[in-house]
Amino acid sequence: MKQLIDQLRNEHRLSGEDYRTLLQADDAETTTYLQQEAHRTALAHFGPEIYIRGLIEIGNRCRNNCLYCGIRKGNPSVARYGLSRDTILDCCRQGYVLGFRTFVLQGGEDPVQTDDWVEQTVAVIRQEFPDCAITLSLGEKSCEAYERFFRAGANRYLLRHETFNEAHYRHLHPAEMSPLHRRQCLQDLKDIGYQTGTGIMVGSPGQTLDHLVEDLLFIESFRPEMIGIGPFLPHHATPFAHEPAGSLELTLKLLSIFRLMHPTALIPATTALASLTPDGRERGILAGANVVMPNLSPSGERSKYALYDHKAAFGSEAAEGLQLLARQLERIGYRISTDRGDYRTEPVDYRTTSANSRPE
Ligand code: SF4
Repeated sequence: MKQLIDQLRNEHRLSGEDYRTLLQADDAETTTYLQQEAHRTALAHFGPEIYIRGLIEIGNRCRNNCLYCGIRKGNPSVARYGLSRDTILDCCRQGYVLGFRTFVLQGGEDPVQTDDWVEQTVAVIRQEFPDCAITLSLGEKSCEAYERFFRAGANRYLLRHETFNEAHYRHLHPAEMSPLHRRQCLQDLKDIGYQTGTGIMVGSPGQTLDHLVEDLLFIESFRPEMIGIGPFLPHHATPFAHEPAGSLELTLKLLSIFRLMHPTALIPATTALASLTPDGRERGILAGANVVMPNLSPSGERSKYALYDHKAAFGSEAAEGLQLLARQLERIGYRISTDRGDYRTEPVDYRTTSANSRPE
């Protein structure tokens, strides 16, 4: 199995059959070696530094009904909200003072926060924070809308494909949504020039090993600049309320595979990972992640953006908990980077930075 891991590290690709073999291997030696190589690869490219992104959940209204999502249109128990532009700007200002140089505007596909509104919001953030990156995660839009947001100053866009397999996609989404359209959106984003992120939920209902192999092959060929991967976590008011959560071990294994596949990709240790287990974020970093996204949203609204139950949004998951986050990272030999952390194709020479502690 070490041979396969070495091959992935050196060539950044495997056959579908080899990915399947790697995913099936659950012995401690393979797991340890895979994580160690992914961790080393992340260190070689980024040093002992973790990029921070300030996450602003701009609204929880959504026209869609994804079966796994707590803020789906069909959930009547959600208290809906949408942040005003001024509130979003205030969040950015607070984040800037704390050291954030990337703002991530995330929300449902909201008919109220129209394309015009998003475009103007991006423009005012760009004007006030010319040195910051603006990331959007607002779902499927027309190519024209993506272009307008880009011209207004957005740099990055996150849109998980969730699952490549058509039947599985349809199991997770209502009939009016389509995996082909989702992938067309991803291609549009890349063509426009966004740093584009995609990704999957691990352990989503109906997911098989074959589906994961398809996802690996898709992400290998799509070459996203960002890869979002987290465990499926159930929400009590969805059709999947009683489905089991995704596996921590499998999520970490996939994260490590993605790191070896795309060494310079920006891979967050996701909130879902931190929600699954208290040290999930640290374990994600030690498996190859290099980004965390503390929550900058107004604290009064955070509980309303519940995509799944028991979502972590406070303590070191919160922007105001940066010192706690810094201490957690320090314990595993890392420190926070206030660089805006754009995607790079070349390794960073971290030896020129002032790290005083490094993991082995
Ligand atoms: S996953 Fe996204 S698009 Fe689907 S219902 Fe939830 S917020 Fe809407």
